[in-house]
Amino acid sequence: MSNREQRSTTARVGLFGGTFDPVHFGHLRPAVELAEAYKLDTLYLLPNHRPVHRGPASASTERRIAMLHLAIEAIPNLAIDAREALRDKPSYTFDTLSEIRAEQPAATLLFFLGLDAFAKYDTWHNWEEILEMANLVVVDRPNAQHSDFSTDLLARQRRSVGEVIIDGRCGVIEQCDVTQLEISATDIRRRIAKNLSVRFLLPATVSEYISAQSLYKARHPSK
Ligand code: ATP
Repeated sequence: MSNREQRSTTARVGLFGGTFDPVHFGHLRPAVELAEAYKLDTLYLLPNHRPVHRGPASASTERRIAMLHLAIEAIPNLAIDAREALRDKPSYTFDTLSEIRAEQPAATLLFFLGLDAFAKYDTWHNWEEILEMANLVVVDRPNAQHSDFSTDLLARQRRSVGEVIIDGRCGVIEQCDVTQLEISATDIRRRIAKNLSVRFLLPATVSEYISAQSLYKARHPSK
């Protein structure tokens, strides 16, 4: 069987983890581009339940997932994997990828993370073991910088520059250029708390939901 035939019969599972508090175009535009670049039938957005590397989310897990549903409605190639929401414990990527690896032993797993997150990847639970189960794709993000650790790790694990289609089961790290949108959920929450517009930073359906549920208001933080 040729490499090309092998590639077409091996499932390629793409996962983009995050808090999505709320989801915005800085997540969605890269997700669409990554699904295309890595030839994924589906890229799963993977909302965490209890984030490990930051304080608790402002909006509840249920509301963050509701916003994700509104955001990806009718967008081909994007879906939600809500498994971390169902685990009432800290959301470790290692646990999630172990589950998916057990479900799909032969699949090529691609875990996408922003450069800001990858710069601190050495603080992730079992980060070396994650690389024994999955490949990482580091997504460029405005103003994000590599750390010494992430520069070294990328140099060790990346394949030749320009080879953008990962087809091995695990262990490769690539950095991928996407349209740079300087949008963050923190900035969106701040604007809403100050009663400023968030138009064109996130889908209109999501901002309508935020208004209807009175999320991120300074005096009435959501539960
Ligand atoms: P916050 O401001 O609350 O920390 P965020 O906007 O960084 O949130 P997250 O849900 O924490 O959003 O991010 C999920 C993933 O998406 C992370 O890997 C993050 O690096 C990446 N990401 C977030 N915003 C962007 C962006 N504008 N461009 C590229 N990647 C992004």
